[in-house]
Amino acid sequence: MSTRIVLVDTNHPGNIGAVARAMKNMGLRELCLVRPKFFPHADATARASGADDLLERARVFESLEEAIADCGLVVGTSARQRHLPWDLVEPRECAARIAQELRIGHVAVVFGSERYGLTNEELARCNWLVTIPTDDEYRSLNIAMAVQVIAYEIWLATRPGAPEPAPREVPLATAEEMTRLYEHIEQVLEEIDFRDRTGGGHLMARIRRLFNRAQLDQNEMNILRGVLTAVQSRRRPAGKSAAR
Ligand code: SAH
Repeated sequence: MSTRIVLVDTNHPGNIGAVARAMKNMGLRELCLVRPKFFPHADATARASGADDLLERARVFESLEEAIADCGLVVGTSARQRHLPWDLVEPRECAARIAQELRIGHVAVVFGSERYGLTNEELARCNWLVTIPTDDEYRSLNIAMAVQVIAYEIWLATRPGAPEPAPREVPLATAEEMTRLYEHIEQVLEEIDFRDRTGGGHLMARIRRLFNRAQLDQNEMNILRGVLTAVQSRRRPAGKSAAR
């Protein structure tokens, strides 16, 4: 199983090259690019130095959803302390948990654009958020530096000879399976005319965050899918009142 680094909306191709180099130093090989502004590009190749093989093998996607589809664990990164209910972890703890998840599933670590970071919608697809602790006065690292710090911790936790954590018994549901669960929930909410009372239509984003935080395994996801299907099959045809 592998850890992939996903860069979303990267503006400077030089940064993509520097990320490839940081990854290769730390034994990471899988680079995924979501809507890179310029790629391939001479600046990327120059900054990658001896890691240009990673650039050649890099996969380019139109959406974050596609880039993480087969991953069980998706970790977002942010320089900002967001006042939102994500589990915030530091790189060392994050790497220890990644080492465990890697024994049974693929892991993605997602980085945002140089200017804006990850959007809330992108963060809603992540199980946790990792922030590199910094001086409060200036929290934002260059993206390749941020990849370097996190990749280094992953390397320490997974390099040959590192203690192997016990794998979880049941694999986590993949991002794609979670997307199907959310579609199913949305469909049932619509069928039962459930009203969004969050103000501003945030219900699905909240639900996503709730279940992503819970990190469902495949059995738990199947239970929920079963419940939803049962609700659909028992639902009274619209317009009929309940028999007493
Ligand atoms: N202005 C943006 C900063 C983007 S820096 C913001 O406020 O979010 C580009 C990317 O580098 C970020 O999206 C994140 O993936 C990573 N990064 C930068 N500093 C970081 C930090 N302190 N901890 C974790 N990731 C960081």
